[in-house]
Amino acid sequence: MMRGRSLRARLATIPPTRLVLFLDFDGTVAPIVSRPKQARLTAAVKKALRRLARSVPVVIVSGRALGDLRRRVSAPGVHYIAHHGLLYQGPRTAVRWFGPRTPGRLVARWARALRSSAEGISGALVEDKGLTVAVHDRLVRPMQRPLLRRRALRALAPWLKGKTIALVRGKRVLEVRAAGPWGKGAAVAAVLQETWAKGRVPLYLGDDRTDFEAFRAVKKKRGLAIRVGGGRGLVGEDAWVPGPRAVECLLRWLAKRVEAGERRSREAQSSEKQ
Ligand SMILES: [Mg+2]
Repeated sequence: MMRGRSLRARLATIPPTRLVLFLDFDGTVAPIVSRPKQARLTAAVKKALRRLARSVPVVIVSGRALGDLRRRVSAPGVHYIAHHGLLYQGPRTAVRWFGPRTPGRLVARWARALRSSAEGISGALVEDKGLTVAVHDRLVRPMQRPLLRRRALRALAPWLKGKTIALVRGKRVLEVRAAGPWGKGAAVAAVLQETWAKGRVPLYLGDDRTDFEAFRAVKKKRGLAIRVGGGRGLVGEDAWVPGPRAVECLLRWLAKRVEAGERRSREAQSSEKQ
């Protein structure tokens, strides 16, 4: 497995303008925060994303809702895979669904059941994202976290028994979503079939369990899976970087390479014409 330096050496062998970048949001391009609402990109990351998106496809892949992601990234030309792979939207395309259009009133029932299970547990945060629901326990005292989890599972029992929902565990979060064979991995594999992505070398950067299935999707296409933070060499990643700060450096370095690559091909074109 590669570390930062050898990762760059490997990336240097790929023509920069042939890349397609898949980036998870929380814990990858944005530092983890105690409340999901507080997550922000640094100005440097925003700038690097804008520069990159001008020349190569940049796809943000997250468990967040589409509108939420758009607001937080707000870089023109960026593609989004939202709700853990339930839907995709390109810069000028309609929303594409990879899973069921769960009715909002059903999602609201999951959220209600979870809110009542969280009653009396200080710090528990239930987030209704419209199509999925997240229970965050980062602010819950560690001793109370198993209790919250037990209660949440009990509250969801009718749907779990009926196999109509699936639970996704992430960093200090339990996500509830409609059951089905969709997810970040399936969404990334589907997006890689699009004409704008075909033949490109996919790079995926992610920090959490839901990203690791997407790692497999990019590796099938001879891409590179880069784990951000956590243990090294545990999930079949090709390279490891320590955290969002290192991701920022990598994105800036990539932006520079992509721009230099574009310049070179422009120069080659103009000298051909002469
Ligand atoms: Mg993440």
